[in-house]
Amino acid sequence: MFIFFFWVQDYKRIDKTGTDLHLCMMTEIQNDLPIDNIPENFKSGFVAIVGRPNVGKSTLMNALVGEKLSIVSYKASTTRHRIYGILTGENFQIVYSDTPGLIKPAYELQTAMMHFVNQALEDADIILAVTDGLKAGVDPELLEILKASTLPRLLVVNKIDKSSQEDTETKMAAWKEALPELTVLAVSAKEKFNLEGIMAFMLENTPVHPPFYPLDQITEQTERFFAAEMIREQVFAKLDKEIPYSTTVEIESFKETPELLRISALLIVERQSQKAIMLGHQGKTIKEIATKARLEMEKFFGQKVFLETFVKVDEDWKSEKRKLSQHGFGV
Ligand code: GDP
Ligand code: MG
Repeated sequence: MFIFFFWVQDYKRIDKTGTDLHLCMMTEIQNDLPIDNIPENFKSGFVAIVGRPNVGKSTLMNALVGEKLSIVSYKASTTRHRIYGILTGENFQIVYSDTPGLIKPAYELQTAMMHFVNQALEDADIILAVTDGLKAGVDPELLEILKASTLPRLLVVNKIDKSSQEDTETKMAAWKEALPELTVLAVSAKEKFNLEGIMAFMLENTPVHPPFYPLDQITEQTERFFAAEMIREQVFAKLDKEIPYSTTVEIESFKETPELLRISALLIVERQSQKAIMLGHQGKTIKEIATKARLEMEKFFGQKVFLETFVKVDEDWKSEKRKLSQHGFGV
């Protein structure tokens, strides 16, 4: 696995139709990209993955891209950013955006999260809507989004490894009736069932366009981002109630030495009482979180990791605009 961390963040936003500009920039920035060999009918486009919290959007993107890029939890609203997963083949490059689940924002952080959803929808060439096969009916908010768009739209009924065939068929029929032009598929992200159906839809509907990213780039997020997310995933796994939702993680330093990666992380909570719980008796809880996160990091980065963690309180960080942008949620 090779990730280009130096890649220009805003590059793809310059002009999605400006082919020459892209190719020119690519030549300048990434000389070894085999631009001459890109077939004329190469397809490339952006896919926004949207849906309610906990329906399996992140699991699905990871499965489609074949890498664990987005953290997953059985708790709702784990994903806070737009996370890119890029899948490149001989004739195509599909850029998936995993997004936070659709909610009515109750505080500033959630407003920022919904902004990331809208951004992904604005950039999209295709919408991939995800629903939970274990929940009956058609979600009106998702239907609204799909109805408002003229893009190719695929709706997947996920988690069919757990639901009966009858329930799955009823749900698919309800969506088809609500929006006849919708393509509807039954899948299981967890069991990787019918991902080929999704791929077929993507290949058919992705526009002919040169690749937006170097051919071996798999995401746009940085190493620091992934390190922080792996810690946050363990906070979700280990702690209950509001604490995971009140925690953000910042990487203070990330140094690569020949032997190992030295990472120093700050876990920021909203209250002193949350800090005490995060630390646990004699630091037991934070130690467990850090150990699990370190093991995940070693798998992901393919290298030994030395991880140190600190816990800090920043009162109400998730409810104040100024603090949010300091913590990387500026919109
Ligand atoms: P998101 O909030 O929509 O991104 O959902 P996640 O990908 O974080 O998944 C939420 C929960 O659903 C996790 O516990 C996943 O393991 C579980 N999940 C996701 N896809 C499937 C699936 O196809 N089948 C089953 N049984 N569980 C799934
Ligand atoms: Mg998610």
